Amino acid sequence: METFTYTRATGVSQAIEGQSQQGTRFIAGGTTLLDLMKLNVERPTRLIDINRLPLDKVEKLPDGRLKIGALVRNSDLAHHPLVESDYSVLSQALLAGASAQLRNMATTGGNLLQRTRCMYFRNEAMACNKRTPGSGCSAIEGDNRTLAILGTSKDCIATNPSDMNVALTALEAVVHIQGAKGEREIPIGEFFLVPGTTPQRETVIEPGELITYVTLPAPRTGSKQVYLKLRDRASYEFALSSAAIVAAINGGKLDFIRVALGGVGTKPWRSLEAERILHGKMPDERFFHQAAEAALHGAQPQSQNAFKIPLAKRCITHALTLATV
Ligand code: SF4
Repeated sequence: METFTYTRATGVSQAIEGQSQQGTRFIAGGTTLLDLMKLNVERPTRLIDINRLPLDKVEKLPDGRLKIGALVRNSDLAHHPLVESDYSVLSQALLAGASAQLRNMATTGGNLLQRTRCMYFRNEAMACNKRTPGSGCSAIEGDNRTLAILGTSKDCIATNPSDMNVALTALEAVVHIQGAKGEREIPIGEFFLVPGTTPQRETVIEPGELITYVTLPAPRTGSKQVYLKLRDRASYEFALSSAAIVAAINGGKLDFIRVALGGVGTKPWRSLEAERILHGKMPDERFFHQAAEAALHGAQPQSQNAFKIPLAKRCITHALTLATV
C-alpha cells in the first residue's frame, strides 16, 4: 500500500471541493476500496472520509417515493421496515450479499460503485484492461467461469458483482449525484456502462461527483417481489446467476412485471425483452420459459461459463414462479 493523506469531510460541498484534486478518493465503509489499496489496484494519494456527512437516513417522501441516503449501511437498509414491507426484493438482495460484518460497514453509495471480483483485476501482475487500459484481458483466455455472458466486449468480460444493484434495477431506482456543476438525477438503467473499449469506466459518474442518495418509485401496491440467487455455496459468495422480479397480477394476468438479472452481465441486467413477453399474459410456465429464452438471447459465453446460459434461464423461470404463486 502506498502513502496517502486522510481528511474527514463535514459537509457535502467541502467533500466535493476536495475530491476535485487528482488522486483523491472518497471513503465510506471502505469494504471495496481498502481491499484494493492493499492489493495496489487502487493507489489514491488522498482519502476523504465522508462517514460524517448527513446522508444516513431512509425517509418516505410526500409523493410516496423512498429516499435512501448514500451512507445508509446495507444492514440498516435491509432491515428497514419500509424496505421490508414495500421493497422486499431489495431487502432479500442485500441479505443475500457478503457477510453480516461486511453488510454492517458497506453503504448504499459504495455498493453502487462496487468493483468487479475478476481475479485478474485484483492481481497487478496480470494484464487487465479495466485496471490498466490497453494492457489486455487475461480472463478471455484464462479463468472465466464466473464472468459475464451478457454485455461483454473483446476488451472485458467482468461481471458486476452486486446483488443490491440488481434489485435497484428491478425497482427502477434513480441515483442522485452532486458535483461542482450541480446535481444530477440518473435512472439506474443509465447509471452503469457496459465495458465496450473503455472498461475502466463503469458508471457515468465524473471525477469530483458524489452519490448523495437513491430514490425508489412509490411502491406498486399488490406486487410480489423475489430475489433468487444461485451460487457455488450458500453464503458469503457472489452470484453465478440471480434474478430480481417485481410482479403484480390483475384479473389473472401480469399487469406489471420487472425482470433484472445478476451474475451474468457486465452491469446489472434488466431484460425488457422478458418483460415484453410477460406483460398482459397469464402467469404460466410456458411464458416464463419464453421470457427466459428472450432474456438470454445474444449471450456470449467464454470457454468456461456456457453453463450460465441454462442456469440463468432456470433462475428466471423459478423466480417468476415464486413471484406469481
Ligand atoms: Fe480485467 Fe475485465 Fe479482463 Fe477481468 S475481464 S481481466 S476485469 S479486462
